[in-house]
Amino acid sequence: MNEKYIDLLHQTTQYSINYIKNIDTMEVFPKSLKELNHLEQKLPQKGSEAKEVIQFLNHIGANTTTAMLGGRYYGFVNGGLLPVAHAAQWLTDTWNQNSALYAMSPFTSKLEEVCERWLVELLGLQQGTAAGFVTGSSNAIICALAAARNTLYQKQGYDIIQKGMKNAPQIKVVFSEDIHSTVKSALTILGFGQEDMIMIPTNEYGIVDLKYMPTLDSKTLVIIQAGNVNGGTFDPIDEICNLANKAGAWIHIDGAFGLWAAASKKQKHWTEGIEKADSCSTDAHKTLNAGYDCGIVFCKHRKALTSALMTNGAYIPYGEQRDNMLYTTEMSRRARSIAVWAVLKHLGKEGVEQLIDSLCDYAEYFAQKLVKCGFHLVIPVCFNQFLIQCDTDENTKKVLQIVQNSGVC
Ligand SMILES: *Cc1c(COP(=O)(O)O)cnc(C)c1O
Repeated sequence: MNEKYIDLLHQTTQYSINYIKNIDTMEVFPKSLKELNHLEQKLPQKGSEAKEVIQFLNHIGANTTTAMLGGRYYGFVNGGLLPVAHAAQWLTDTWNQNSALYAMSPFTSKLEEVCERWLVELLGLQQGTAAGFVTGSSNAIICALAAARNTLYQKQGYDIIQKGMKNAPQIKVVFSEDIHSTVKSALTILGFGQEDMIMIPTNEYGIVDLKYMPTLDSKTLVIIQAGNVNGGTFDPIDEICNLANKAGAWIHIDGAFGLWAAASKKQKHWTEGIEKADSCSTDAHKTLNAGYDCGIVFCKHRKALTSALMTNGAYIPYGEQRDNMLYTTEMSRRARSIAVWAVLKHLGKEGVEQLIDSLCDYAEYFAQKLVKCGFHLVIPVCFNQFLIQCDTDENTKKVLQIVQNSGVC
């Protein structure tokens, strides 16, 4: 059995290496998806050899995957995979650590503790800020807003855990009109309704317009963003944090890709004031290129986060050491901190800064070239993004189609 296992891993390594060797010539988005039809099979009655399964899987996958690796994929707000992260993920799979509890895996408990400290320093957050390692920003936002909700109620003397949402006093939720849709779904999941929400109008760049800020108080939850997916822009973080802090409101920053600006001397002016936020969230699988899936929730009030997410059971032995599951909605889960640790160790502070600066420099480079070609700049370069269009919508669509059909990017 062992020999077969090892053989299987050798075979898989070879498939992976071949895939990576081809990545620079692959069509970025597969032109033909015919191979997918081969997946249309009935649930097999009898099993097959692992080797054959992987061979079949590789045949389909190598021909129909989107080339998100390799640097020519610019769709949505996705990240790549640094070689060191890839290698660390292989080890993660090999070790198969359930990183819920120290009692299960002291190794991943220690890694999360170290990553938490490193990230807090890297991003310039307040010392002692807690971090949880979750699937992505969608979940990180839920975790942070759960802590926010419970704390705001607690301040009003209302025990939400005991009494639930039904007769809860109203909390105003104030957020940017251009906020990411995951924030809205997090609010819905947490029991907030449209009537609790106030949207702050944004300007033509998708930035919160301060003159429309409603009055904040200690019954308010404010959510703004560091990095708008529709053009890369940042809300005026420092000003809004000051207002929220003064009012005793809870402020969260969605910085799925943009929070990383804080790690660059050239870019950190965008995130000035993030350390004043009560919580923020980001993705290591975006700007940091640590691979899927890896979101991070940061909360200045450790107890608020852990008490909001705490689950109990007679069989769960919490200890003196870090129990990772206290910081997420999940119990059993992948040891995401392994890849994060490897990337941070590999790049160091300087390397992360270079990575971020290079993304921003490329954005600048592309923007200049495209403007020279006659494209109209709708939103100038902000961080790692910009927005362009042609003279008409029809031409914009045509150009997009030509670019995408080229298979180059
Ligand atoms: C990507 C993104 C999200 C959602 O993050 P996931 O990692 O996909 O769950 C939320 N907010 C912003 C600004 C994003 O860019």
